[in-house]
Parts: sequence; C-alpha cells; structure tokens
Amino acid sequence: MTRQDLVPSSCINHPERPSTVRCRRCNVPICNKCKVATAHGVYCTNACSEQMAAYLKKAASLDQPMRKAKGGFMRLLTRLVVLIVVAGAGWYLVKSGMVRAVWGWLMSILRTVRGG
Ligand SMILES: [Zn+2]
Ligand SMILES: [Zn+2]
Repeated sequence: MTRQDLVPSSCINHPERPSTVRCRRCNVPICNKCKVATAHGVYCTNACSEQMAAYLKKAASLDQPMRKAKGGFMRLLTRLVVLIVVAGAGWYLVKSGMVRAVWGWLMSILRTVRGG
C-alpha cells in the first residue's frame, strides 16, 4: 500500500486539502495549488510533465512509421481489389459479348451520322 492508496482524496503535498486531479504520469492525487497544467495533461511536478512530454514524443515517433506502413498496405490491398474487380468486369463483358454489342451499336450510330 502506498500513500496515495490510503488517502486518495487528499493532496499528496497538502494532506488537509482535497485533491482535484491526479498526475498523469505517476497518478498521485494533487490539489489545484500543486497541479502543473500543460497542453498534454496535468502533473504533480514540472519534472513529471517533462518526462511525460518526452515519453509522448517518443511514443508518437515510434507510432508514426507503423501507421504509415499499415496505411500503405491497406492502399495496396484496395488497389489489388479494384484491379481484380475491373479485370473481372472486363472479362465478363468480353465473355458475354457485351463489348461486341456496344461496339456494333457505336458503329451503327457512326454509320447513321455519316450517312445522314
Ligand atoms: Zn507526477
Ligand atoms: Zn497540494
């Protein structure tokens, strides 16, 4: 049992004051007077805030290339699916004689335009 488990509702620096938040890094309860508010969270000390900022920066830099690789794979997969669908549709059209039908229709229009 640590101190913050025994007195979760009072500030770690001021036992007589109720805590309003917990440090994002070490989770100790702190009062409004002790908290160090930053853009990336609330901390008990500047040291905590700096350590967490460094950790977040490192985590973000580790996370980014992985996300990029995943996005690239998904794009590749999507492209492959589109290619298969297009090839399948093309093959179906050729097989069903649709291409010849459309071609004949176009030629008949051309003849009409030329003749008319
Ligand atoms: Zn802390
Ligand atoms: Zn305090």
